[in-house]
Amino acid sequence: MKRTKSKKLFEEAVLRIPGGVSSPVRAFKAVGGEPLFIRSAKGSKLTDADGNIYVDYVGSWGPMILGHAHPRVIGAIAAAAKRGTSFGAPCELEVALAGEVVKAYPSIQKVRFVSSGTEAVMGALRAARGFTGRKKVIKFDGCYHGHADYLLVKAGSGAQTLGQPDSAGVPQEFTAETLVARFNDATSVEAICKAYPSEIAAIIVEPVVGNMGVILPRDGFLQKLREICDREEIVLVFDEVMTGFRLAYGGAQEVYGVRPDLTALGKIVGGGMPVGAYGGRSEIMDMVAPVGPVYQAGTLSGNPVAMAAGLETLKILKATKPYRTLEKTTRALCDGLREAAKSAGVPVFVAQAGSMFTVFFVDQEVRNADDARRCDTGRFAAFFRGMLEKGISLAPSQFEACFVSSAHAPADVAKTLKAAHVSLTRVPNF
Ligand code: PLP
Repeated sequence: MKRTKSKKLFEEAVLRIPGGVSSPVRAFKAVGGEPLFIRSAKGSKLTDADGNIYVDYVGSWGPMILGHAHPRVIGAIAAAAKRGTSFGAPCELEVALAGEVVKAYPSIQKVRFVSSGTEAVMGALRAARGFTGRKKVIKFDGCYHGHADYLLVKAGSGAQTLGQPDSAGVPQEFTAETLVARFNDATSVEAICKAYPSEIAAIIVEPVVGNMGVILPRDGFLQKLREICDREEIVLVFDEVMTGFRLAYGGAQEVYGVRPDLTALGKIVGGGMPVGAYGGRSEIMDMVAPVGPVYQAGTLSGNPVAMAAGLETLKILKATKPYRTLEKTTRALCDGLREAAKSAGVPVFVAQAGSMFTVFFVDQEVRNADDARRCDTGRFAAFFRGMLEKGISLAPSQFEACFVSSAHAPADVAKTLKAAHVSLTRVPNF
């Protein structure tokens, strides 16, 4: 595959943009090679700067559940843009989108729009701290909640570790109130609660994890978190930035039947435009300014063009109910990938949650971050590069989710599996 234009653009980009990219994983550092520069995207396909076409399973990291450039979503964006791109004042579209979110999520009585998932989580946790008057937050090893200082914490060796900054530029003091538990291990949460009685404001979790690859909660795990939060008067925050409107219209909380106190949303709720949202019980949300003392604001929050994209996306999802088909398409893909790996003699664990999946290069089930770290990332990188050469774009890291959209047709799955058979056969030789 010729990639001369992408290569040239990358050479130019690195001179002016750190690493040549606006978000780090796009740089392909975990898999080697150079990033593709994308010229356009339509349905299930991406076209790069050189005109190469790829079946896309990145889906802009989750938002593109309807496929790229859905004509109705583009129409709604164009119509909104003609009326003005930003008002810095309330508009009808945000009222309509808030109405849809509240209807879809019974746990959400009030919602505040922001411009990214990172902001949504920051807002939710600030509201939780304001509401409880407590400082500490429990997160789980391997879960990603955006790039706020105090959430850039990776776990140490133990299950109950005090936060260690995961990034230069984050003082240790800023992460001192972040405590790390182990996903799928409620006893690790209980131990932290016991060590810090009445000090924990919130437990934040990706109810189905996407950010160490796809990891499903074990039976009863989310329910147990709910129980602990009720008992200890802790605010339970579901980070559904990735899973919201993705696993079901009502997100992971609909699938697992657990009601958080607050929910962070992003990605699909903005229909491919920069939107995040956080919401939940009125008594907590009414802590937020201008009603309450918890300050949070944004110049472009509730932006009319972004609201229009989100609203149209939700309307289509509600009308077409694609979730069963998405699950079926993804299941066919995952079954085929398992089969291809078996016939190539490569041990893999393929995890699927609805239309999210990850091929882990490991010979056992992946239940938490420790399991995920056992993966052979060299093999993953070889697989990724082999697939890309055959016109299949996967997430460029072992520790990410891939996404299927309603635009992915059986022919896309067939092409992907054909590529996988070849790529997996070559994996052990790298
Ligand atoms: N939370 C989760 C679960 C995410 O997957 C992400 C991003 O991938 C974020 C938060 C941060 O969202 P954003 O990148 O829009 O700031």
